[in-house]
Amino acid sequence: MYYNSDTVIYYNGKFVKAAEATTDLYGQSLHYGYAVFEGIKSYKTEGGTKIFKAKEHYDRLRRSAELMHIPFNYTTEELTALTYEVLERNGFSDAYIRPLVFCSPNMSLSKGRESYLTIEAWEWSKGYLSGKLRIMTSGFERPNPKAFKIEAKVSGHYVNSILACQEAKDKGFDEALVLDANGNVAESSGANVFFEKDGTLYTPALGSILPGITRATVIDMCAELDIPVVEKFFTPDEMRGADAAFFCGTAAEIVPLESLDNVPFIKDWDSSVCAIIQKGYSNLVLGKTLEEFKGSLQFSVNS
Ligand code: PMP
Repeated sequence: MYYNSDTVIYYNGKFVKAAEATTDLYGQSLHYGYAVFEGIKSYKTEGGTKIFKAKEHYDRLRRSAELMHIPFNYTTEELTALTYEVLERNGFSDAYIRPLVFCSPNMSLSKGRESYLTIEAWEWSKGYLSGKLRIMTSGFERPNPKAFKIEAKVSGHYVNSILACQEAKDKGFDEALVLDANGNVAESSGANVFFEKDGTLYTPALGSILPGITRATVIDMCAELDIPVVEKFFTPDEMRGADAAFFCGTAAEIVPLESLDNVPFIKDWDSSVCAIIQKGYSNLVLGKTLEEFKGSLQFSVNS
C-alpha cells in the first residue's frame, strides 16, 4: 500500500529500495517509541513539484530531535534537497512525505547513541480525512506537557492519538476531539482545530498541542485577510453549536466538521469564514501567493 518493489527511499546516506531496507530489532525507538518524525506534503504546481513549507517541517524535525536528545546532523537545506530527490527518483508530484529519525540498539533509558534517518514518500492527492466529520469529545486527554515535550513530534506521543481515534471510531464517530488536563479543547488525534463564531475564528492556545504548521499558516492567512482569530483556552461547551469548525493539518489540510458530540455546527459551510480559509489554503499549497487569489475569495462575512 505504501510502497512496491520499485519504490526508493533515502536511508542513512543512500537511496535504496524500500523493499530491501532493514532495521535492527533491538533498536531503542522500536522498543520505546523514542523517535521523531514529520509529515510533509508535496504538490504538483504550475511551477513543477513543490514541497509545501519544507523549511518549517525540517526546522521542526531538528527541534524535535534536540528536545529528545536524539543525535541529528542534517541541515534543513540538505534535507529538502534529499526529499526532492526521493520524489524525483519515484516520479512523484502529489505525495505525502514521511521523514523519520530513529535510534540504534540501546535497551537502557539513556539518550540515543546513534540515529538513522529515513525519508519515505508515497503518492497522495487527497486528504486522509474527507467529507464533513462527526467528531466526539474524547475520553482520553492529550499527554501532559509536564510528562512529555509536547511541542515535539515524537513517535511515542501517537499511542495517545491511536487510542483517541479508535475510541471515536468504535463509538461511530469519524474522529476525536481530545482535551488537555484542564478540560480545555486541545486538538484531534492528528490535526489542530478551529471554530467560528460571529465571524471570528478561535483556536486552542499553545501548551498541550502540537504547534501545527497548518495552524500557523491559517493564522497568517487570517491576518492578511483581516479575519479576526483568537488563540485561547476554551471548553467543548463553548465550541458545541458554534457557527462552523474545521480540523487542519498537513495531511488533513482543512476539513469541515459537521458536529461535535452530535450537536451540529449551524452555518452552511459555503457561507462560513472557514470556507474562505479552506479555499485560500488550497491555493497556497499550489504555490499561489495570497495576492494572486485574494480576489477569488468571497468575503460574505466581512463585507
Ligand atoms: N496535531 C497533531 C497531533 C498532529 O499529528 C498534526 C499533524 N502533524 C497536527 C496537529 C497538525 O500539524 P501540521 O499542521 O504541522 O501538520
